[in-house]
Order: sequence, then C-alpha cells, then structure tokens
Amino acid sequence: MAIQVIKDKCKGCKLCIKACPFDAIDMDGKLAVINEKCTACKVCISKCPFDAIENTGGDEVVDLSAYKNIWVFAEQRDGKLMNVALELIGEGYRLAKEISDDTKVCAVVVGDGVAHLTEECYAYGADEVILIEDPLLKQYTTDAYAKAITDAIQVYKPEIVLYGATHIGRDLAPRIAARCNTGLTADCTRLDVKVSSYIEYAKKNTTLDTSTLDPTDPSTGIKQTRPAFGGNLMATIICPRTRPQMSTVRPGVMQKRDKVEGAKGTLIVFKPEISKDDIHVQILEVVKSAKEMVSLTDADIICSGGRGLGDASGFELIKKFADKVGGVVGSSRAAVDAGWIDHSHQVGQTGTTVKPKIYFACGISGAIQHLAGMQTSDIIVAINKDPDAPMMEIADYAICGDLYKVIPEIIAEWDNAEA
Ligand code: FAD
Repeated sequence: MAIQVIKDKCKGCKLCIKACPFDAIDMDGKLAVINEKCTACKVCISKCPFDAIENTGGDEVVDLSAYKNIWVFAEQRDGKLMNVALELIGEGYRLAKEISDDTKVCAVVVGDGVAHLTEECYAYGADEVILIEDPLLKQYTTDAYAKAITDAIQVYKPEIVLYGATHIGRDLAPRIAARCNTGLTADCTRLDVKVSSYIEYAKKNTTLDTSTLDPTDPSTGIKQTRPAFGGNLMATIICPRTRPQMSTVRPGVMQKRDKVEGAKGTLIVFKPEISKDDIHVQILEVVKSAKEMVSLTDADIICSGGRGLGDASGFELIKKFADKVGGVVGSSRAAVDAGWIDHSHQVGQTGTTVKPKIYFACGISGAIQHLAGMQTSDIIVAINKDPDAPMMEIADYAICGDLYKVIPEIIAEWDNAEA
C-alpha cells in the first residue's frame, strides 16, 4: 500500500475518514488504518492536520495475473435487458475465445426482482451471471450501483469490464473505474485482443499473419479503439498496468450472438452491502420523455434525411418513405442543428450508432462523423444530387438525382409492387 499512517503521529481525530472519498480508512482504537479500498488518491494526506499520513512512494504494482474473465454490465430498465447488453455479451464471447479457452463471459445483472433476466443472458452467450439484487438497487442511482459493482469486482477480479455507452453506462463506468483505480476508455467502437495473448490465439489459427506482432511484448490485454479529435482519427488505447480494463461501447456497434433457447450457465449470487447512507440522491419521480421514441438501434431499415432536404418539411417525405418501407426516420446532424428534427433521430458520432439491414441516406453528403455511425449497415443506398459525395462512394446503391424526384418514384414503385 503506497499510503500509510504514521502511528506515532496519528491522534485519532478521524478527519481523514471524513475526507476519504472511497471509504478506505477505518479506525483501530485511536489509530487510523488504510484498508484495501484505498486508491492512493492522497486526499487524506492533504487533510491530516498532524502530517500523520504519508505516501511511501511508487505506484502500487498490480498483479495482472490475479484478474480473469470478461464482465458485461447487463443494463436493464424496468426489468428488460437493453439491447446493448446482449451485443456486449456477444462481443465478450468473441474476445474470450481469443484470450484463452478458459476465459469466461459473465453478465452482471443488477436491480431488484431481476433474476428472470439470467436465462436471457445465458441464451445470448454468457457463461456466468453475477446477480446483484437489493431493494436499494430497484431504481438506478450512481452511488448504489457503483458501490455494489465495485465491491463485486474487488471480490471476483475480472480482467475486462464492458458497459454500454448509454446514459447509465456513461455515468456508472467512470465511478467504478475511479474506485478500482483503473483506466476507462469511453465510447469504444472496436475492441481487439492485444499482442501476446493474440499471439497465442494466432498460433492456433495458422491463417493469421503474426509477422507484424512483437513476440517480446509481455503484456496482455485489449486494444480499445474510439474516435478522437472530432472523429478525424481513431485512437487505440491500452490499459497496461491496472485491472480491470474497462470500456464503454456504443450501442449498435457490436454483434449479438444468435439466441440459443434453453442455454445454461452458472449463477453467482452476490449480496451487496449497501445502505441508505451510501446513496446521496433521492429519486422523487421518474418522468419518461414525452418525445416520440425512436429506436434507431433496433431498426432493420432506416431512412435518413440531411441538409439536402432543404427545410423541415422535407422530413414529411422521409417519414412517408419510412412508413412505406417499414423503416424509422434518421437524420444527419446538419438537419438537427437546423432545428428540422429532434436530436434523438441523429445518426453518427454524436448521435446514435446504427447497423440496420438497409440504410437510405437521402441528401446526406457522408461526412466522417456521420459515416462513423452507419457505415457498417448491411446495405447502404445513397440518394444525392452530387455523384462525388462521399456517401455515394461508400454506398452499395448510389442513386444520383434530386431526392424530391427519386423518393416519390421509389414509393410509387413500391405501391405498384404491392398492388
Ligand atoms: P451536407 O454536408 O451539407 O450535405 C448535404 C448533401 O445533400 C450534399 O451532398 C448535397 O449534394 C445533397 N443534396 C442537396 N440537395 C439535394 C437534393 N435535392 N436531392 C439530393 N441530394 C441533395 N454529423 C452527423 O450527421 N452526425 C453526427 O453525429 C455528427 N457528429 C459530429 C461531431 C463533431 C465533433 C463534428 C465536428 C461534426 C459532427 N457532425 C455530425 C457534422 C458533420 O461533420 C457534417 O457537418 C454533417 O454530417 C453534414 O450533414 P449533411 O450531410 O446533412 O449536410
């Protein structure tokens, strides 16, 4: 432990206990004692009036080998798993297979009365479920969820923890990372197994080229890739010295596994030690947005409109188009910024990441920030007046023309086909 109490100087005033944000100091009689929750944040040193706490220097060396398995925060709302949780179980399964044969994927289900979700986690690829239930976890609060999951991490020591980059995941993951004194990469769009364990994987897969890998690199871990500098480059981030490695991952990016009905796994029930005193906020009321709910991430077909619509009324045509083909309405940020449509429809780096079967980009140029959110769609259809627009280049079907002529013709053709 880098932080230590100097016995001769400690007066037992307990100021350090009040100052510690991690609950990492206990009293042993009149002596303050640092416990295992210490993150070496050093707040206690600055608060002690008797200079009785010291940093004995050097960062604590974490025994990386003590950490094993991949955890997925199986986010649920009102007792229903979020799609991103299932996507991350699928991604965890893929990574686990690459890391080692005995690496397991574990879904962490947190709430109250949520045990029924375990079967669904197994069905989508989880080997284990850690079930953390308590009446104080019924509604999400940062304090209670962060404490319960951090405590479980300290007991079971997972190597990797993945969260959906949802509002809850983005709120929760940094708190847990700070408490575990480890790193967090937010908003990942790609995860890969890093060098040395990858070499092990590559050895078993003779088709892979290992010549570019450095076999002397002793570290294991994952490479976490996310857009940086306004989406103009992709940054790959590693967490070489601490564990767990933590990432939030955008919904809609990773691949769900096919559901296997009746799949079995191991259930671990973890009883959290939380009390009302741990929770510093009180939820008085949950007000659901009155806005029209758009489920872009689950849509098979998306019809998106951009600045090329000319004005807000263009979305009436896009809506008609979407209704005809059984899709939902998306948009570029330019259309949102112009006030033509709500942000909940925005696709892209600062909007939603989508992966539909068909993506219609109508009057959207194909800026990198928009492409970042939709370029893995199965089929892309671009409708644009400019044949050189980047969207036309990446499209599977590029229709060059005025969208106000092209879309009504598609709708008319659709009507003819239905007739
Ligand atoms: P434009 O680039 O103006 O393109 C309009 C297109 O419509 C043109 O290609 C034009 O040829 C075509 N057109 C015009 N009239 C017609 C017509 N009648 N028929 C057919 N085609 C026509 N953007 C996003 O979309 N999502 C994001 O999440 C996002 N995040 C961003 C984050 C950052 C940090 C930054 C800096 C930018 C972000 N942007 C995002 C903005 C992005 O850079 C672009 O400005 C935006 O995507 C452009 O939208 P657009 O394609 O609708 O408009």
